[in-house]
Amino acid sequence: MIRHDILVIGSGLAGLSAALNADPKLSTAVISKVHPIRSHSVAAQGGVNAALANNPAGRDDSPERHAYDTIKGSDFLADQDAAELMCREAVPTVLELEHLGVPFSRFPGGVIAQRPFGGAGFPRTCYAADRTGQVMIHTLFEQALKRNVKLYNEFMVTKLVLRRGRCCGVVAYAYDRGEFVPIRARAVVFAVGGYGRLYLRTTNAYTTLGSGIGLAFQAGLPLKDMEFIQFHPTSLYGKNILITEAARGEGGYLLNNRGKRFMSDYAPKAMELAPRDIVARSIQTEIDRGRGFEDQYVHLDLTHLGREKIMKRLPAIREICIKFAGLDPVETPIPIQPAQHYSMGGIDVGNDCATGVAGVFAAGECSCVSVHGANRLGGNSLLETVVFGKIAGRSASLYVKGCGAGPAGAEKALRDGVRDIEKRVEGWEKRTEGIPIHHFLQRMKVLMTAKAGIFRDRGSLREAVDRVLEMREDYGRVIRTGRNRRYSQEIVNIFEFEHSLKLAEAITRGALHREETRGSHFRTDFPKRNDRRWLKHTLAFLRNGKVELGSKKVRITKYKPEERKY
Ligand SMILES: Cc1cc2nc3c(=O)[nH]c(=O)nc-3n(C[C@H](O)[C@H](O)[C@H](O)COP(=O)(O)OP(=O)(O)OC[C@H]3O[C@@H](n4cnc5c(N)ncnc54)[C@H](O)[C@@H]3O)c2cc1C
Repeated sequence: MIRHDILVIGSGLAGLSAALNADPKLSTAVISKVHPIRSHSVAAQGGVNAALANNPAGRDDSPERHAYDTIKGSDFLADQDAAELMCREAVPTVLELEHLGVPFSRFPGGVIAQRPFGGAGFPRTCYAADRTGQVMIHTLFEQALKRNVKLYNEFMVTKLVLRRGRCCGVVAYAYDRGEFVPIRARAVVFAVGGYGRLYLRTTNAYTTLGSGIGLAFQAGLPLKDMEFIQFHPTSLYGKNILITEAARGEGGYLLNNRGKRFMSDYAPKAMELAPRDIVARSIQTEIDRGRGFEDQYVHLDLTHLGREKIMKRLPAIREICIKFAGLDPVETPIPIQPAQHYSMGGIDVGNDCATGVAGVFAAGECSCVSVHGANRLGGNSLLETVVFGKIAGRSASLYVKGCGAGPAGAEKALRDGVRDIEKRVEGWEKRTEGIPIHHFLQRMKVLMTAKAGIFRDRGSLREAVDRVLEMREDYGRVIRTGRNRRYSQEIVNIFEFEHSLKLAEAITRGALHREETRGSHFRTDFPKRNDRRWLKHTLAFLRNGKVELGSKKVRITKYKPEERKY
């Protein structure tokens, strides 16, 4: 049996940060569905926030201002001590990344360049042109190779095994062997990213179906604030490839079909750089009221920025537009529409990344600390991955050093786990009649986009819950059509979809329950924020296969909830 002290699930920025910050005397491994540099973090474009105060327009910036912007952006649902911790750690963490070799863009004096981003009082987003995630993940991957971190690539974890409330390890599907293998670990760190592919229109990669979070949920860990889904204002119309917020940070305008910069009607001060929830709703409202183009999109106009600035600061955006839309943004406005982008909710953890289960930790997009509350600010997610990834690695190391040999019977529990999984796969294969998995995926995406999208109400959400439950019934008849178990995308999809179903239920039930509007959660039937009833986190528990809801207090330090104005 493979054995490690710490097993990090996920090789994105959070996972690699956790592995690099684990105690080197311990045996740490990273397991991932994909090769590290194909983890979704590679797609991050615009930048990472830290109050370095390098931009001449941001000399008065500070970690406190960063924390305030983050908490206000969160519509006051973030836990304030967690946001303060992240913003305090931002400056040393970004400098550490620089020292590790991340090639940030520079101002003429040589310091790290910073650009304005939405909802930020100062230009504090550090960047590497519009390829920030790519350079960060390459740097951390190089460091992982240098330090001989053991990597298991193309392994999908299919079960978290616990015994007597403690971590034993995982069962994973090894793509190349077509087998299910037990991996013993005294601590596990979930760094499994988000679940954007539950939606039809999303900027997320095809790998983001949420199986990782679903595994934790299945094992009894509660999920927090799942109803808060971020819709990014600017994805390329039709393709939904992200057009980074940096395009607006560099001065891009949003225009409707009358040529008006319509953000003046919604956020007269911040304009295009209001937080994402506000800009996405404004765009959708313009489209819904007939002021879009072809009833589908508005324009993001960069033409006034000039060729040189676009080539220097937004080269990848230009390439995306040329390749995928056949237009050059130097000359032509970009057609854009909102699309699912980020998951604020996730595995409930404390500031030390510990869950309620001994030996299980979580960091990055899959976790909910909560630093983003009801709406994440651009540039704060990359920051969260590196700050909390580091904390998770350290917390898991401390735990392992004090936990002894782990629960008795752990290896037997793991072997039993493998047998369980084998039986399930055989069940799908033995069935002669049933529903192939591809029938489900599209059904889910259409449903979530139509009924649990930017605007929701009781009727749409009730219907969404009912239809998710119907799909769950039908999933009981899922059939495996192929027989080869090596590199089987069908096996991957069937496992992942089971988890997508549970997450969809947690999202829609949470959204139906929360009768207010806060951040990204806009209820047309309850259009105001209601702190008296709803200034609390939603917790979702899976009990006997059913999703049940509870709540948890929001931690407030010094920032009194106020109405958000931009
Ligand atoms: C297009 C795009 C651009 C973005 N730009 C920015 C930006 O400029 N600034 C910013 O702050 N944020 C940005 N974000 C958000 C940010 O990039 C992500 O939130 C962040 O990178 C997530 O990192 P992560 O390490 O948590 O997860 P990921 O990088 O998504 O990694 C998840 C890992 O988990 C693995 N995994 C998942 N399930 C399993 C399983 N069952 N078994 C084994 N492995 C599993 C995957 O293989 C992967 O390695 C952007 C997001 C998108 C989609």
